Amino acid sequence: TGGRATARTLAGPPAAADLLARAAALAATLPVTPAIAFIRVGDDPASESYVRGKAKKAAELGLDSRVHALPADTTQADLHALIGTLNADPGVHGVLLQLPLPGHLNADAALTCIDPRKDVDGLHPVSAGLLWQGQPGLRPCTPAGVMALLDHYRIPVAGQHAVIVGRSALVGRPLAGLLLNADATVTVAHRATPDLGAVTRRADLLIVAAGQAHLITPDMVRPGATVIDVGINRVPGQDGARASLTGDVHPDVAGVAGALTPVPGGVGPMTVAQLMMNTVQAAAQQTPADRRNGASGDVPR
Ligand code: ADP
Repeated sequence: TGGRATARTLAGPPAAADLLARAAALAATLPVTPAIAFIRVGDDPASESYVRGKAKKAAELGLDSRVHALPADTTQADLHALIGTLNADPGVHGVLLQLPLPGHLNADAALTCIDPRKDVDGLHPVSAGLLWQGQPGLRPCTPAGVMALLDHYRIPVAGQHAVIVGRSALVGRPLAGLLLNADATVTVAHRATPDLGAVTRRADLLIVAAGQAHLITPDMVRPGATVIDVGINRVPGQDGARASLTGDVHPDVAGVAGALTPVPGGVGPMTVAQLMMNTVQAAAQQTPADRRNGASGDVPR
């Protein structure tokens, strides 16, 4: 309370629309309709709703999608067999395994079975290696979506000091690779970092993916810094109010930061848009160059 809102709001929807338009333009150069196969195991309602949302966005964009909903008692071998079938199917360009899996299944082993050319979630070790080596490949959707958001709002990255809070395989680590490839100076802080504020105050660009509501308070932010809030935390409603979503960044940071993403409506929409772009890029890469029309479909560095 008290912080005077001065930060520019970096809204996700316009940036996501821009990314989706670029995906549609690339898809229009292809002789095939890009197709994505979703695999979901068990009946986790959140996973069900995420897959539904992604399939709906694919349909809006004119991409093909199908959902393989497997029972909760699916074996690792059955899961690998389905992935193998989809890998071998030339009509499927992207294979997305919705996480988390039920506890008896090994997600890393299953992700590693996906053909890296169809790895539209960018979580295969080959994709991670290509990213870290600065080579073209499919990139994880949330970090790549953050880069697209920065690009949309023309936020400079090269030569800037980027501080990432969080080192997960899904967000923090791949983001470090993307920012390095974009010529930022990168610091990664995490749970074991002492005096987090001393580190975050050095950031020109502060990106927070820690899964801790309001971890970042105004005193931890350099005045004028750009702050990207990747956190989505469910906070229970008080006095019968509905539960709400809040980020890893305290709202009062708007009184200090130069620019700030809202939660919800910031990074969230970028993730699904980037998945669509990855699917179209995967389809482009799987289409011989002489059958494409115009744009190259090269996956980014
Ligand atoms: P996500 O998938 O959103 O990245 P995870 O829960 O997998 O989230 O990872 C959380 C990350 O945030 C971890 O790398 C952890 O070290 C970091 N983290 C969590 N709490 C703090 C904290 N209080 N200070 C700094 N880093 C934190």
